[in-house]
Amino acid sequence: MKTPSTPSCYDIIIVGLGPAGATLARLLSPRFKILAIDKKPGGAQGGFKKPCGGLLAPDAQNVLARFGLTLPSHVLVSPQIFAVRTIDTTTRLIRYYQRFYLNLDRDRFDRWLISLIPPRVEVRQDACFKSLARNAGGAGYDVTYHQGGADFTVSAKHVVGADGASSAVRGALYGARQNIRHYVAIQQWFRDEHAGPFYSCVFDPDTTDCYAWGLSKNGHFIFGGAFPPKNCRARFERLKERMRQFGFRLGEPLKTEACMVLRPSGLFDCRAGRAGGFLLGEAAGFISPSSLEGISYAMASALTLGKILNGNSRAPNRVYFLRTIPIRLRLFIKNLKIPFMYFKPLRRLVMATGIHSIDMATAPGSISEQ
Ligand SMILES: Cc1cc2nc3c(=O)[nH]c(=O)nc-3n(C[C@H](O)[C@H](O)[C@H](O)COP(=O)(O)OP(=O)(O)OC[C@H]3O[C@@H](n4cnc5c(N)ncnc54)[C@H](O)[C@@H]3O)c2cc1C
Repeated sequence: MKTPSTPSCYDIIIVGLGPAGATLARLLSPRFKILAIDKKPGGAQGGFKKPCGGLLAPDAQNVLARFGLTLPSHVLVSPQIFAVRTIDTTTRLIRYYQRFYLNLDRDRFDRWLISLIPPRVEVRQDACFKSLARNAGGAGYDVTYHQGGADFTVSAKHVVGADGASSAVRGALYGARQNIRHYVAIQQWFRDEHAGPFYSCVFDPDTTDCYAWGLSKNGHFIFGGAFPPKNCRARFERLKERMRQFGFRLGEPLKTEACMVLRPSGLFDCRAGRAGGFLLGEAAGFISPSSLEGISYAMASALTLGKILNGNSRAPNRVYFLRTIPIRLRLFIKNLKIPFMYFKPLRRLVMATGIHSIDMATAPGSISEQ
C-alpha cells in the first residue's frame, strides 16, 4: 500500500465530481484541507461520460441563478426545444407540453463545473474510490482509492459520497440498508434523420413502468429509457421497435450507454449519510421519481451541506438530515404526481382532456404516427 507524497490527512474527502461533488468542492471554505477524487479522466475529451439527457431543468437553472453563475455558450448544444411531444403507446394519444429545459452537452457541463473548483482543493481525476473504514480513534475515516496502478490510503474527518446512483460510499456507510428502488437506464445515440429536431417523452407500460425519451442533440438523436433491471436490454429493443411505428428513425446506433438510475419511492428512501459520512445528489437518492431530473437536487444538496460544514456545526449529520427534509418533501410531492403520469386510466384522462397541453400549428419533425 502506497501513500501519496503530499500529506495524507484531510478535513474533507469528496468522492465524485459530478454536479454534486464539483459544487461542494467549489463552495467549501478555504480553511478546510480538501481532497476531491473522481474516476473520470481529466484533460481533454474521452473516457467515461455520464449517460444523461443533458437537459437543464428550471429548478437547476434556479440553483445556478442562486450561485450567480451564468452558463458559458460552449456548454449549450443545438437546438433549444420548447415543447415535449408526449406519446402514450397504448392509447396512441399524443400531446405537446411546453417545457423550459436548456439542451446541454452533459460532459462539457460537468467539466465546466470542475473548472470552477478553486486551486486550493486537491483534485485527483482518474482516481477510483475503493473503500473506507472508521480510523482507530473513531474520529474520522481512512479512505482507499486507486490511481495510476497503485492504491493510496488517506484519512479525513469527513467523507462525502457524491459518486452517483451506484454510490460505493453509500454502500460502505449503510451496507445492506442502502437499498433504494433502482432501474437500468439505457440510451443509444443515432444520426438524427428526422425532418426536424424534437424532444419526446414516451409511456409504454409493456416495457417499463417508468418512461422513455427521445431527444435531438447536435445532429444526433438520443433514444433511451429507464427499465426494471430484469430483461432490461430486451425491453429496450422491444420499445425501439415499437417507436419505429411512431415514426422514430432509429438506424444503426453510434453509441450505447447504460447505467443505474435511482427512483426513490417514499419519504424515507433517501440516505443523507451518517457518522461523519455524507451523501449528496443521486448518491443520496435525491432525484425526481417522476422525471428522473437530478442535476438540480445534486447542486441543491451540495449547497445545503456546504453551508453546514462551513458553519462548523457540532452535529453536522443531524443538521444535514433536517435541512434536506425540503428536498425529500419535494421528491415526495413528485411521487404524488406519478399516478397521473404512470397509471394508465389517469394518464389517458389527463391526455384526453388536453389539460396544460399546447396546440401545435405545425408538428415538428416527421414523426407523425404511422
Ligand atoms: C440516462 C439518464 C438521463 C438523465 N437525464 C437527465 C437530464 O436530462 N436532466 C437532469 O437533470 N438529470 C438527468 N438525469 C439524472 C442526472 O444525471 C443525475 O441525477 C445527476 O447526474 C446526479 O448528479 P451527481 O453529481 O449526484 O452524480 P453523477 O452525475 O452521477 O456524478 C457522480 C460522479 O462520481 C464519479 N464516481 C462514481 N463512482 C466513483 C468511484 N468509485 N470513485 C471515484 N469517482 C466515482 C463519477 O465519475 C461521476 O463523475 C439522467 C440520468 C440518466 C441515467
